[in-house]
Amino acid sequence: MGDWCSRCYRRNSNCAAGISVLRIDDSKEINHPKSTEGVGEIGYLPVSKKMKKTTLLRKKYPEFVYENYSYKFKNGNFLISFYFSIKPDLKFKTDIVLKNIPQKKIETIDEPTLENLVFHLGLIEMLNYWKLTCSPKIFIESGNLSTEGKRFLRKIISKGMGQYFYENKIDFTRRGFLKIETNPQKRIYRASKIEADSRKILIPIGGGKDSIVVLESEKSKAKKIGIFLFNPKTPQRKVAKISKIKEIIVAQRKIDPRLFELNSKGYLNGHVPFSAFLSFLTLLAAYIFQYPKVAFAWEKSANEPNLKYKKRWINHQWSKSSEFEKIFNEYRKRFLVQNISIYSPIRNLSDLEIAKIFSQFTQYHNAFLSCNNAYKISAKRPKWCLKCPKCLFVFSVLYPFLEEKNLIKIFGKNLFEDRSLLPFMLKLISKKEKKPFECVGTKKETILAFSLALKQAKKRNKIPFLLKKFEELHIKK
Ligand SMILES: [Zn+2]
Repeated sequence: MGDWCSRCYRRNSNCAAGISVLRIDDSKEINHPKSTEGVGEIGYLPVSKKMKKTTLLRKKYPEFVYENYSYKFKNGNFLISFYFSIKPDLKFKTDIVLKNIPQKKIETIDEPTLENLVFHLGLIEMLNYWKLTCSPKIFIESGNLSTEGKRFLRKIISKGMGQYFYENKIDFTRRGFLKIETNPQKRIYRASKIEADSRKILIPIGGGKDSIVVLESEKSKAKKIGIFLFNPKTPQRKVAKISKIKEIIVAQRKIDPRLFELNSKGYLNGHVPFSAFLSFLTLLAAYIFQYPKVAFAWEKSANEPNLKYKKRWINHQWSKSSEFEKIFNEYRKRFLVQNISIYSPIRNLSDLEIAKIFSQFTQYHNAFLSCNNAYKISAKRPKWCLKCPKCLFVFSVLYPFLEEKNLIKIFGKNLFEDRSLLPFMLKLISKKEKKPFECVGTKKETILAFSLALKQAKKRNKIPFLLKKFEELHIKK
């Protein structure tokens, strides 16, 4: 199974390849295009010509503008809209709604802080659209940033979009690659403070094992826990229900459908720093709902990069790394809110250690789901795709700690018996292969997971195919 589609030069997991696929964000069916309409000469080009494609797009679209934002409370909901454009002729709008805010909380809100947090959220949201053309200039017409603010944004782009630069063969390290200008007429805000009980913790739940471990471990420490759900689907809702937590804060985002249209016409696509977006959004929710702490599930292995490109490390999980956490909190303290901290209680745990803890929480075993293809199979009934590195990785870290039959109940089959997953196993464990662009553990700990799984299988006297292969490669060497 190769990484790239030979028709559209997108990664397999993102490729429509002539069939319609389901986009996660807006649940719309999009068809793979047959023409290069809209981008003329720069439609579908071989990988070797990707650089030329970017050059042409950057020339045709010289400036990206973060034009404006608006926000209001309506019927207990907080409605936000962001307006972006790419000169000369592209316009976009994102809508976000934060639901069910009690009136007494609305009354305590400080308007300048709210505006500042909304403005900053737009700085991350804009990257979804900027990536279409990689325009050489970003003009932030809607607001102003300090020197530190500009430096912070630049870092989020250069580190958080590393995978996008690598996959599109963009030289982001050369001088003058990106100019960022802000509006000097606008105010630069300083950080404010909130009044809140320090034992209240807000926990974003993605539906995977890591956030469940955070939720259960923080339960004993906190006086009150709230759950934050972003664009919630069935697994997140199930996890929230099982947790018995009462305060569930929900945010929904509607991305401009024009984005998907342009992607399907061959404009640039790729990974954006989603956890950075979620950090700003959760900070806003924590401010409105008065939580002084936000506990993310950012594990130790998020610090390990995938590969080197243009002499820089590229890390799919950078916006979950210690580096991001540190610079985010430094910036937050000075320019956003002084006393709402973002942290990760599982920062020192490896994926394997997290899997061991998670194996105890049997009540969640039939609810959790962290395969990124799950919603492409069915938006209403998402399930493990059983054909990706992430599915194999989660299966392998849980294998040492669960009965094989219980693991098969969760996934629907024994993934170690699937011969077609051998290339993914190699990508997860071999030093010669690049680690997949997925939220998976370090190679060292995946090797340890496979070793422990092999031991277990030997005890049962039945060694599945992938573990036999692993034994050949690692033990008998
Ligand atoms: Zn999968």
